[in-house]
Amino acid sequence: MRKPLSKAPARLQGMLLQLQRYELTVTYTPGKHMFIADALSRATATSDNDTTSENGCDERVVYALEATEALSEDTLNRLRTAVATDSELQAVCEKHIHGWPTKRKSLDRALYCYWPMRHNISIHKGIVMVGDKIVIPQNFRQTILEKLHMAHQGIQRTKAKARKVLYWPGMSSDIETMIQKCEQCQQMQPKNQAEPLVPHMIPELPWMKIGADIFELEGQPYLLLIDYLTKYPEVLNLPDKTAHSVIQKMKSVFARHGIPKEIVSDHVPFASYEMKSFADAWEIKLTHSSPGFPSSNGMAERAIKTVKHALKKAIQTGTDPHLVMLSLRNTPVTGLNLSPAQMLMGRVLRSTLPCSSNVLRQSTPQNIPEKLRDMQSKQKLHFDKRARPLPVLSPGDTVHMQTRRGWEPAVIVHQREEPRSYTVRTPSGNTLRRNRRHLRKTHSSLFKDTTLNLDSDGLFSQNPESVDPPACDSPQKSSSESMENTAPYFTRSGRAVIRPARYRD
Ligand SMILES: [Zn+2]
Repeated sequence: MRKPLSKAPARLQGMLLQLQRYELTVTYTPGKHMFIADALSRATATSDNDTTSENGCDERVVYALEATEALSEDTLNRLRTAVATDSELQAVCEKHIHGWPTKRKSLDRALYCYWPMRHNISIHKGIVMVGDKIVIPQNFRQTILEKLHMAHQGIQRTKAKARKVLYWPGMSSDIETMIQKCEQCQQMQPKNQAEPLVPHMIPELPWMKIGADIFELEGQPYLLLIDYLTKYPEVLNLPDKTAHSVIQKMKSVFARHGIPKEIVSDHVPFASYEMKSFADAWEIKLTHSSPGFPSSNGMAERAIKTVKHALKKAIQTGTDPHLVMLSLRNTPVTGLNLSPAQMLMGRVLRSTLPCSSNVLRQSTPQNIPEKLRDMQSKQKLHFDKRARPLPVLSPGDTVHMQTRRGWEPAVIVHQREEPRSYTVRTPSGNTLRRNRRHLRKTHSSLFKDTTLNLDSDGLFSQNPESVDPPACDSPQKSSSESMENTAPYFTRSGRAVIRPARYRD
């Protein structure tokens, strides 16, 4: 009798309630030790007694109903009607009244899920209950799901709330699907979890691969160049952010340290025509990282933070920024005990710090790439503890894309060459490049009017099997729009609509 009264099956609730008057201890005695049957157990009840106990039981079931989240009389009536028309629950009722078979196998497959709880099932005024949970019939589940999701809570909370008072087979997955389909919830989702690190290849030689970025400090633009192997930073004042100015500054640095093989940067202004022709002439390969995804240009981004921080402090304290840069170049890289200057130039740079001339002598550090790779794999191990890869998306997948305003709908056009990078099409018809981390697969029912397909031209086309052409309710609107536009257009709510072929030609 450890179970609380409300959790007990209604069949036993009656007995438990009546026993509450007494203080008793129940001990289990196996049947083989009960030699003489209790005289009272053979006493037949009078018909009078029977009815009172039945009525008492009714009240108790009502108590159980009231203990559940209060449903209105109207809801209860509708629920009752739904149970009456639900063949599965009618079968459960039938088994409950006429007895369950001794083996699960002899049941209808649809009733298998009720087997473990068969002893907890009770029926009251046409409503099926499992313990103190109401069993919801098929055609009433949608209404209940809507009620459950009134506050737009997350999957776990909604499930917990539902499990307290309701039951139906597959309730959890129904709740999951509903929330995945909810447009409001999709828009407000938190960001994706981190994916395992894709470590950048560590170059074998110094100043072969460099990261480039532009940042601003007190309104003044700066160009930052940083070596992927040695972490050696170069910071240069820019007169403006044009490609021309950036190229001039780069030339002066490359004349000093040599021309790198590869420059990793984001797009502006490193993807400009001028930059491309400079890179061609100087035999440099340009690689671009996903916009809004600094981690793929992580090296430069992290260095910017360090450099910016140091320079800001220099300005605040009136320290010479050049001395600050010198100090940064002389500071050992974490976990390596070698400074960027030592790795790039083979010596400690003389600074205002007192040091013996022995330290300033040149020496070539060995095995830097190996040491760095070792460090990198340790970092990856640590980082990946919190990370999980996101599933690959395919062309035509409907997604939500993380923006400053929250998650917005888009369609995958194709996967790009760069790792975890995709081209997506937005409701306004723009194609953008996005990292997988900023894309979340959305239930396609949010785009429910058509199945999105990509044909060989890379254009969206309508699946010929799709049943319901969306434009038939507004043919005038479609025909007045440009016929060449075969991309899906989006309604204000973000639903993708593709014009059927007959309106295209
Ligand atoms: Zn919602």
